[in-house]
Amino acid sequence: SQPLLEIEDLRKVYTSHKGLLGQNKVEVTAVDGIRLELKAGETLGIVGESGCGKSTLGRLIARLTEPSGGKVTFDGKALFQLNQNEMKSVRRDMQMVFQDPYASLNPRQRVQSILEEPLLVHGMGSKSERKERVAEVMKVAGFDPDLGKRYPHQFSGGQRQRIGIARALMTNPKLIIADEPVSALDVSIQAQILNLLKELQSKFSLTYLFISHDLGVVRHISDRVAVMYLGRLAELSDCESLYKDPLHPYTEALLSSVPVAEPAGRKEPIVIKGDMPNPADPPKGCAFHTRCPKVMSMCKEVRPELYPVKDGRFAACHLYA
Ligand code: SF4
Ligand code: MG
Repeated sequence: SQPLLEIEDLRKVYTSHKGLLGQNKVEVTAVDGIRLELKAGETLGIVGESGCGKSTLGRLIARLTEPSGGKVTFDGKALFQLNQNEMKSVRRDMQMVFQDPYASLNPRQRVQSILEEPLLVHGMGSKSERKERVAEVMKVAGFDPDLGKRYPHQFSGGQRQRIGIARALMTNPKLIIADEPVSALDVSIQAQILNLLKELQSKFSLTYLFISHDLGVVRHISDRVAVMYLGRLAELSDCESLYKDPLHPYTEALLSSVPVAEPAGRKEPIVIKGDMPNPADPPKGCAFHTRCPKVMSMCKEVRPELYPVKDGRFAACHLYA
Protein backbone atom coordinates (compact mmCIF):
# COMPACT_ATOMS: atom_id res chain seq x y z
CA SER A 1 0.00 0.00 0.00
CA GLN A 2 0.93 3.66 -0.43
CA PRO A 3 3.04 5.15 2.35
CA LEU A 4 1.24 7.82 4.39
CA LEU A 5 4.20 10.16 3.99
CA GLU A 6 6.76 10.17 1.23
CA ILE A 7 9.75 12.51 1.26
CA GLU A 8 11.85 12.82 -1.89
CA ASP A 9 15.13 14.73 -2.23
CA LEU A 10 14.03 17.28 0.32
CA ARG A 11 16.34 20.29 0.60
CA LYS A 12 16.53 23.44 2.63
CA VAL A 13 19.23 26.04 2.18
CA TYR A 14 19.30 29.03 4.52
CA THR A 15 21.00 32.14 3.19
CA SER A 16 22.26 34.88 5.45
CA HIS A 17 24.35 37.96 4.81
CA LYS A 18 27.37 38.66 6.96
CA GLY A 19 29.92 41.44 7.04
CA LEU A 20 29.57 45.15 7.69
CA LEU A 21 27.62 45.76 4.49
CA GLY A 22 26.08 42.33 4.33
CA GLN A 23 28.39 41.65 1.43
CA ASN A 24 29.27 38.07 2.41
CA LYS A 25 26.58 35.62 1.50
CA VAL A 26 26.62 32.56 3.78
CA GLU A 27 24.66 29.49 2.76
CA VAL A 28 23.86 26.65 5.11
CA THR A 29 22.26 23.50 3.74
CA ALA A 30 20.20 22.39 6.74
CA VAL A 31 18.48 19.51 4.93
CA ASP A 32 20.42 18.06 2.04
CA GLY A 33 18.49 15.61 -0.12
CA ILE A 34 16.50 13.53 2.36
CA ARG A 35 14.47 10.60 1.10
CA LEU A 36 12.17 8.75 3.52
CA GLU A 37 8.83 6.97 3.70
CA LEU A 38 6.45 6.49 6.60
CA LYS A 39 3.89 3.73 6.61
CA ALA A 40 0.56 4.38 8.30
CA GLY A 41 0.69 3.38 11.95
CA GLU A 42 4.46 3.34 12.35
CA THR A 43 6.79 5.52 14.37
CA LEU A 44 9.89 6.76 12.64
CA GLY A 45 12.46 8.22 15.00
CA ILE A 46 14.76 10.94 13.71
CA VAL A 47 17.90 11.23 15.78
CA GLY A 48 21.05 13.33 15.62
CA GLU A 49 23.04 16.01 17.37
CA SER A 50 21.76 19.55 17.57
CA GLY A 51 22.17 21.33 14.25
CA CYS A 52 21.86 18.15 12.15
CA GLY A 53 18.69 19.44 10.49
CA LYS A 54 16.17 17.18 12.20
CA SER A 55 13.90 20.01 13.38
CA THR A 56 14.09 21.67 9.98
CA LEU A 57 13.04 18.37 8.44
CA GLY A 58 9.93 18.28 10.66
CA ARG A 59 9.09 21.90 9.89
CA LEU A 60 9.48 21.35 6.15
CA ILE A 61 7.07 18.43 6.21
CA ALA A 62 4.49 20.53 8.09
CA ARG A 63 5.36 23.43 5.77
CA LEU A 64 6.14 25.73 8.65
CA THR A 65 9.35 26.36 6.70
CA GLU A 66 9.38 26.63 2.91
CA PRO A 67 11.61 24.10 1.13
CA SER A 68 14.42 24.87 -1.32
CA GLY A 69 13.68 21.73 -3.29
CA GLY A 70 12.22 18.24 -3.32
CA LYS A 71 8.80 16.77 -2.80
CA VAL A 72 6.65 15.72 0.14
CA THR A 73 3.57 13.61 -0.51
CA PHE A 74 1.20 13.19 2.41
CA ASP A 75 -1.91 11.06 2.16
CA GLY A 76 -1.69 11.23 -1.64
CA LYS A 77 -1.26 15.02 -1.82
CA ALA A 78 1.90 16.76 -3.08
CA LEU A 79 2.17 19.32 -0.27
CA PHE A 80 4.41 21.87 -1.96
CA GLN A 81 1.86 22.32 -4.74
CA LEU A 82 -0.96 23.22 -2.37
CA ASN A 83 -2.10 26.79 -1.77
CA GLN A 84 -2.62 28.20 1.75
CA ASN A 85 -6.23 27.03 1.95
CA GLU A 86 -5.52 23.52 0.75
CA MET A 87 -2.57 23.33 3.15
CA LYS A 88 -4.82 24.42 6.00
CA SER A 89 -7.11 21.46 5.40
CA VAL A 90 -4.08 19.13 5.34
CA ARG A 91 -3.13 20.42 8.80
CA ARG A 92 -6.24 18.78 10.23
CA ASP A 93 -4.57 15.48 9.46
CA MET A 94 -1.03 16.49 10.38
CA GLN A 95 -0.34 18.04 13.76
CA MET A 96 2.81 19.04 15.62
CA VAL A 97 3.90 18.65 19.22
CA PHE A 98 6.81 20.80 20.38
CA GLN A 99 9.45 20.62 23.09
CA ASP A 100 8.08 23.46 25.15
CA PRO A 101 4.30 23.27 25.33
CA TYR A 102 4.23 26.28 27.65
CA ALA A 103 5.55 28.55 24.93
CA SER A 104 2.73 27.50 22.63
CA LEU A 105 -0.11 27.55 25.18
CA ASN A 106 -1.75 30.96 25.57
CA PRO A 107 -1.41 31.74 29.31
CA ARG A 108 -4.64 33.77 29.31
CA GLN A 109 -6.73 31.00 27.79
CA ARG A 110 -8.39 28.26 29.80
CA VAL A 111 -7.31 24.77 28.79
CA GLN A 112 -10.78 24.01 27.44
CA SER A 113 -10.59 26.88 24.96
CA ILE A 114 -7.00 26.00 24.04
CA LEU A 115 -8.30 22.56 23.10
CA GLU A 116 -11.38 23.86 21.32
CA GLU A 117 -9.35 26.21 19.14
CA PRO A 118 -8.19 23.69 16.49
CA LEU A 119 -11.85 22.71 15.97
CA LEU A 120 -12.83 26.36 15.50
CA VAL A 121 -9.93 26.94 13.10
CA HIS A 122 -11.06 24.02 10.97
CA GLY A 123 -14.79 24.71 11.37
CA MET A 124 -15.41 21.33 12.95
CA GLY A 125 -18.52 20.46 14.95
CA SER A 126 -21.32 22.38 16.64
CA LYS A 127 -20.77 24.10 19.98
CA SER A 128 -22.00 21.09 21.95
CA GLU A 129 -20.05 18.64 19.80
CA ARG A 130 -16.90 20.65 20.38
CA LYS A 131 -17.52 20.68 24.11
CA GLU A 132 -17.98 16.93 24.06
CA ARG A 133 -14.79 16.42 22.04
CA VAL A 134 -12.79 18.56 24.48
CA ALA A 135 -14.02 16.44 27.41
CA GLU A 136 -13.33 13.21 25.51
CA VAL A 137 -9.77 14.18 24.56
CA MET A 138 -9.02 15.47 28.06
CA LYS A 139 -9.96 12.04 29.37
CA VAL A 140 -7.78 10.13 26.92
CA ALA A 141 -4.90 12.45 27.84
CA GLY A 142 -5.43 11.51 31.47
CA PHE A 143 -7.30 14.54 32.81
CA ASP A 144 -10.56 15.03 34.63
CA PRO A 145 -12.49 17.22 32.13
CA ASP A 146 -13.32 19.64 34.98
CA LEU A 147 -9.67 20.72 34.92
CA GLY A 148 -10.41 22.35 31.55
CA LYS A 149 -11.45 25.45 33.48
CA ARG A 150 -7.89 25.96 34.66
CA TYR A 151 -5.09 27.93 33.04
CA PRO A 152 -1.79 26.48 31.74
CA HIS A 153 0.26 27.81 34.68
CA GLN A 154 -1.84 25.72 37.06
CA PHE A 155 -0.35 22.54 35.57
CA SER A 156 3.08 20.90 35.92
CA GLY A 157 5.50 20.56 32.99
CA GLY A 158 4.44 16.99 32.27
CA GLN A 159 0.76 17.91 32.46
CA ARG A 160 1.33 20.82 30.11
CA GLN A 161 2.94 18.48 27.60
CA ARG A 162 -0.13 16.23 27.92
CA ILE A 163 -2.24 19.31 27.13
CA GLY A 164 -0.03 19.95 24.08
CA ILE A 165 -0.59 16.36 22.97
CA ALA A 166 -4.34 16.63 23.63
CA ARG A 167 -4.47 19.75 21.47
CA ALA A 168 -2.70 17.88 18.65
CA LEU A 169 -5.30 15.11 18.91
CA MET A 170 -8.37 17.35 18.73
CA THR A 171 -8.82 17.19 14.95
CA ASN A 172 -8.27 13.42 14.90
CA PRO A 173 -5.06 13.63 12.80
CA LYS A 174 -3.29 10.82 10.97
CA LEU A 175 0.26 12.03 11.48
CA ILE A 176 1.85 13.69 14.48
CA ILE A 177 5.27 15.30 14.13
CA ALA A 178 6.76 15.51 17.61
CA ASP A 179 9.94 17.59 17.94
CA GLU A 180 11.79 16.83 21.19
CA PRO A 181 8.46 16.35 23.00
CA VAL A 182 10.00 15.06 26.24
CA SER A 183 13.40 16.76 26.24
CA ALA A 184 12.38 19.45 28.73
CA LEU A 185 10.95 16.94 31.21
CA ASP A 186 12.43 14.92 34.08
CA VAL A 187 13.24 11.30 33.26
CA SER A 188 10.35 9.84 35.29
CA ILE A 189 7.88 12.12 33.52
CA GLN A 190 9.46 11.34 30.13
CA ALA A 191 8.47 7.69 30.48
CA GLN A 192 4.87 8.64 31.30
CA ILE A 193 4.59 10.84 28.23
CA LEU A 194 6.17 8.22 25.96
CA ASN A 195 3.77 5.58 27.27
CA LEU A 196 0.85 7.92 26.71
CA LEU A 197 1.99 8.53 23.12
CA LYS A 198 2.18 4.78 22.52
CA GLU A 199 -1.25 4.21 24.02
CA LEU A 200 -2.74 6.96 21.86
CA GLN A 201 -1.06 5.54 18.80
CA SER A 202 -2.77 2.19 19.09
CA LYS A 203 -6.08 3.72 20.14
CA PHE A 204 -6.26 6.17 17.22
CA SER A 205 -3.99 4.47 14.60
CA LEU A 206 -1.61 7.41 14.68
CA THR A 207 1.61 7.66 12.70
CA TYR A 208 4.50 9.44 14.40
CA LEU A 209 7.56 11.24 13.19
CA PHE A 210 9.47 11.46 16.45
CA ILE A 211 12.42 13.86 16.51
CA SER A 212 14.94 13.74 19.36
CA HIS A 213 18.63 14.06 20.20
CA ASP A 214 18.15 11.40 22.88
CA LEU A 215 18.86 7.87 21.68
CA GLY A 216 17.26 6.30 24.76
CA VAL A 217 14.01 8.14 24.17
CA VAL A 218 13.97 7.33 20.45
CA ARG A 219 14.61 3.65 21.20
CA HIS A 220 11.64 3.53 23.55
CA ILE A 221 9.11 4.61 20.95
CA SER A 222 10.36 3.95 17.39
CA ASP A 223 9.76 1.15 14.91
CA ARG A 224 12.45 2.48 12.60
CA VAL A 225 15.14 5.08 13.20
CA ALA A 226 16.77 7.54 10.81
CA VAL A 227 20.10 8.96 11.97
CA MET A 228 20.94 12.41 10.58
CA TYR A 229 24.31 14.08 10.28
CA LEU A 230 24.83 17.54 8.79
CA GLY A 231 21.53 17.53 6.92
CA ARG A 232 21.82 14.04 5.45
CA LEU A 233 20.78 10.55 6.45
CA ALA A 234 23.65 8.50 7.84
CA GLU A 235 21.63 5.38 8.60
CA LEU A 236 18.09 4.11 8.35
CA SER A 237 17.33 0.88 10.21
CA ASP A 238 14.66 -0.91 12.19
CA CYS A 239 14.97 0.13 15.81
CA GLU A 240 16.15 -3.17 17.26
CA SER A 241 18.95 -3.73 14.74
CA LEU A 242 20.15 -0.14 14.94
CA TYR A 243 20.83 -0.37 18.67
CA LYS A 244 22.13 -3.95 18.61
CA ASP A 245 24.27 -3.73 15.51
CA PRO A 246 24.73 -0.17 14.22
CA LEU A 247 25.90 0.01 10.60
CA HIS A 248 27.21 3.54 10.26
CA PRO A 249 30.33 4.66 12.18
CA TYR A 250 28.40 7.75 13.25
CA THR A 251 25.59 5.65 14.74
CA GLU A 252 28.26 3.62 16.52
CA ALA A 253 29.83 6.78 17.91
CA LEU A 254 26.44 8.06 19.07
CA LEU A 255 25.71 4.81 20.87
CA SER A 256 29.09 4.59 22.58
CA SER A 257 29.16 8.18 23.76
CA VAL A 258 27.76 8.26 27.26
CA PRO A 259 25.45 11.13 28.06
CA VAL A 260 26.58 13.28 30.96
CA ALA A 261 24.18 12.83 33.86
CA GLU A 262 23.29 15.90 35.86
CA PRO A 263 22.32 15.76 39.54
CA ALA A 264 18.64 16.19 38.67
CA GLY A 265 18.80 13.03 36.56
CA ARG A 266 18.55 14.94 33.34
CA LYS A 267 20.82 14.06 30.50
CA GLU A 268 22.96 16.45 28.60
CA PRO A 269 23.19 16.04 24.85
CA ILE A 270 25.56 13.35 23.66
CA VAL A 271 29.17 14.25 23.08
CA ILE A 272 31.23 12.77 20.28
CA LYS A 273 34.97 13.11 19.79
CA GLY A 274 35.98 15.95 17.54
CA ASP A 275 34.04 19.07 16.72
CA MET A 276 30.92 19.21 14.64
CA PRO A 277 32.06 20.75 11.33
CA ASN A 278 30.83 24.21 10.41
CA PRO A 279 27.53 23.59 8.58
CA ALA A 280 28.29 26.59 6.34
CA ASP A 281 31.45 24.83 5.19
CA PRO A 282 30.76 21.09 5.40
CA PRO A 283 33.59 18.61 4.74
CA LYS A 284 34.02 17.35 1.19
CA GLY A 285 33.19 13.70 0.55
CA CYS A 286 31.64 11.99 3.55
CA ALA A 287 30.47 14.72 5.93
CA PHE A 288 31.53 12.54 8.89
CA HIS A 289 35.08 11.94 7.72
CA THR A 290 36.62 14.51 10.06
CA ARG A 291 35.41 12.50 13.07
CA CYS A 292 35.24 8.95 11.73
CA PRO A 293 37.54 6.32 13.27
CA LYS A 294 37.23 4.22 10.08
CA VAL A 295 38.01 6.98 7.58
CA MET A 296 39.59 5.86 4.27
CA SER A 297 41.22 8.06 1.66
CA MET A 298 38.22 7.99 -0.69
CA CYS A 299 35.97 9.23 2.16
CA LYS A 300 37.63 12.65 1.89
CA GLU A 301 36.76 12.96 -1.78
CA VAL A 302 33.61 11.01 -2.61
CA ARG A 303 30.26 11.52 -0.96
CA PRO A 304 28.76 8.13 -0.10
CA GLU A 305 25.22 7.36 -1.26
CA LEU A 306 22.69 5.81 1.06
CA TYR A 307 23.48 2.18 0.26
CA PRO A 308 21.04 -0.67 0.93
CA VAL A 309 22.85 -3.02 3.32
CA LYS A 310 20.54 -5.79 4.49
CA ASP A 311 17.00 -6.45 5.74
CA GLY A 312 15.66 -3.05 4.71
CA ARG A 313 18.57 -1.26 6.37
CA PHE A 314 20.55 1.56 4.76
CA ALA A 315 23.85 3.31 5.48
CA ALA A 316 25.56 6.25 3.79
CA CYS A 317 29.08 4.90 4.13
CA HIS A 318 31.70 3.58 1.69
CA LEU A 319 32.17 0.52 3.90
CA TYR A 320 28.89 -0.72 2.41
CA ALA A 321 29.42 0.26 -1.23
FE1 SF4 B 1 33.65 6.83 7.89
FE2 SF4 B 1 34.26 6.78 5.32
FE3 SF4 B 1 32.04 5.59 6.17
FE4 SF4 B 1 32.26 8.24 6.14
S1 SF4 B 1 32.25 6.90 4.37
S2 SF4 B 1 31.43 7.01 7.77
S3 SF4 B 1 34.37 8.54 6.69
S4 SF4 B 1 34.14 5.02 6.68
MG1 MG C 1 15.96 20.96 17.24
